[in-house]
Amino acid sequence: MTLAAVVFFAVGTLMVVLAVGIRIGRRAGTRATPPSGDGATVAELVQRVVLSSHNGVVLLDRMGEVVLANPPAIELGLVHGSRPDERARKAAEQVRDTGQVVRVDLSPLDCGGRSGRGPTAVLGEVRPLGDEFTVIDASDESDAVRLEATRRDFVANVSHELKTPVGAMALLAEAVLDAADDPHEVRRFGTKILNEANRLGTLVTELIALSRLQGAERLPALATVEVDQVVQEALGRCRLAAESANIRITVDPPSGLLLHGDVPLLVTALSNLLDNAVSYSPSGSPVSVSRRLENGFVEIAVTDRGLGIAPEHQERVFERFFRIDQARSRSTGGTGLGLAIVKHVAANHGGDVQLWSRPGIGSTFTLRIPAHPDSPKQVSRTSSTPEYVGGSP
Ligand code: ADP
Repeated sequence: MTLAAVVFFAVGTLMVVLAVGIRIGRRAGTRATPPSGDGATVAELVQRVVLSSHNGVVLLDRMGEVVLANPPAIELGLVHGSRPDERARKAAEQVRDTGQVVRVDLSPLDCGGRSGRGPTAVLGEVRPLGDEFTVIDASDESDAVRLEATRRDFVANVSHELKTPVGAMALLAEAVLDAADDPHEVRRFGTKILNEANRLGTLVTELIALSRLQGAERLPALATVEVDQVVQEALGRCRLAAESANIRITVDPPSGLLLHGDVPLLVTALSNLLDNAVSYSPSGSPVSVSRRLENGFVEIAVTDRGLGIAPEHQERVFERFFRIDQARSRSTGGTGLGLAIVKHVAANHGGDVQLWSRPGIGSTFTLRIPAHPDSPKQVSRTSSTPEYVGGSP
């Protein structure tokens, strides 16, 4: 509907609103002349309320014709041309017959073909308004519906992820009992139970970390952080994994850069990137870490020459529980939460994480965090020698 049509409805139906307004005024025992200082009548005030409402409001007459529609009603698709949405019209008929309020789903029927900008869920309530009119009052519930779907998905995923190691431990415990007389088998199954228990522990720890990052708890107060300290602590955490995969990590010399952040969170994010670089690279291949200052952001890049990530998976790897290769992630003890945590840590620091990758060539994940105002305006290296962590060159 064009703006002219809206104005037509609004102005053309002022009389109807006036009538409704006067009636409301009478019923409420007030006068049609309002107490307002600007001389507006009750009818005009009623109309202002309707037109300024954030909800879509449509007034229908006894014949089901639209007599007033505010702009949000047009945006939500409650009115097509000069006709009400068919579902709303039927609901209004029912309201006229029964005098009862009716709730109706007025979500767009062509959501699939939309560009993703319009509402996807619209819920309305149709109420009687005197003997002659019905009013449709609808709101955009897309965010609430999307959030609920995400929550439901998350709960389903968590249940599945928790059940898997618990189920495996139960089976392995049975196997230990069956093999009680065979020390070799007991040791073999015992080791597997330990692995599953560790997996479960990591999963629970990461779930708690993620829920904190998503606002379940207040985040720690941010302080001035030395970027080089974050890099050192993260390297310390993945040293063992790198050594056992015979992967050598090359680290550029300290940068002297500062940022405003939380050391434990940043160390967790960076070690997740390093763990992945090690896990998804063949034994003996190189990994490197570099720091720089770019447009006011501290950038810490982790580069590997591992499996790489196909373009269609590059956004999805940051989703909770998304893994390209379920079996590989499982064999490396992955939970599918590592990159989701990195993304949230970056966002909580006002930054982001960027990915460049090509299958068969490798990947670079870059953590970008705004630099501290007191940070040197350029990298100030105190040495020119790179550091090496992990396996032999
Ligand atoms: P996981 O615990 O499975 O490693 P992440 O959230 O850390 O979970 O990563 C999600 C998925 O992204 C991984 O399962 C893997 O398929 C892919 N991935 C992450 N980092 C890399 C990398 N450096 N190289 C190749 N694939 C990667």
